[in-house]
Amino acid sequence: MRILGYLGRANVVLDIPEDQAADPGRIEAALLADKAITHVAQVHCETGTGILNPLPEIATVVAAQGRRLIVDAMSSFGAIPIDVQAMPMDALVAASGKCLEGVPGMGFVIARRNALEAAGKQCHSLAMDLHDQWLYMQKTGQWRFTPPTHVVAALRAAIDQYQADGGQPARLARYAENCATLVSGMRRLGFATFLDDAVQAPIIITFHAPDDPAYDFPEFYRHVREKGFVLYPGKLTTVDTFRVGCIGAIRPDAMRRAVGAIEEALRGMGVQNFAPA
Ligand SMILES: *Cc1c(COP(=O)(O)O)cnc(C)c1O
Repeated sequence: MRILGYLGRANVVLDIPEDQAADPGRIEAALLADKAITHVAQVHCETGTGILNPLPEIATVVAAQGRRLIVDAMSSFGAIPIDVQAMPMDALVAASGKCLEGVPGMGFVIARRNALEAAGKQCHSLAMDLHDQWLYMQKTGQWRFTPPTHVVAALRAAIDQYQADGGQPARLARYAENCATLVSGMRRLGFATFLDDAVQAPIIITFHAPDDPAYDFPEFYRHVREKGFVLYPGKLTTVDTFRVGCIGAIRPDAMRRAVGAIEEALRGMGVQNFAPA
């Protein structure tokens, strides 16, 4: 919404409660009610909470209404299956970091060729003009501007590793095991996840903050970091939470050690109750 605002593109927001997946039926109703909507922007895995949205069903209703779909698959690409042949969409955006386990720094778009062709001369920005970059790459084999060479080399190595490891199914299986190990360990301590397991993606997990007067996130964060683990602050508007990622070159033993570090850090702070209010 902010991005579109900066670009001066008209938009409407379909508000969805933070603990619920996007509802294809509501998207369909919104499209039926407003014929002026041309495109739907959908995040696949919502990293702010950890929700996995039902992309195949959303792609189906958007296509049935004759609208275009643009997917932010930043935190799912490489781990959660996405079949662009079977799911109608104009473009999918992902990047070198996250589930591909390269270093951050390079984004890429998988686009329907006719949608990319139709985007010619429409871009608000020379630097971000994907169509121009695509034409130039076809003609010269080059990037238009200096490429991030180290990021590209790291991505090449990361993709080799990805393929050697068994590709998407293996990556999803490892993350799912990381997630299950983390969640069961945290629940044993008394923590509660913000999301129901049914909508939780095995990417990043939101936990309710402990209901204990000794709890303080910045201090908790510092103690856990001293033990070698970095947490993410919560991103929710109404409830106090924190997040733990389970992607990257880590295995269940690292998740067990993270749970141990979380427990030690909190006990060291004098937190006794790990359950939410
Ligand atoms: C990480 C992420 C982004 C932003 O990616 P950057 O590499 O920081 O630009 C956008 N959307 C989602 C869903 C993400 O997980």
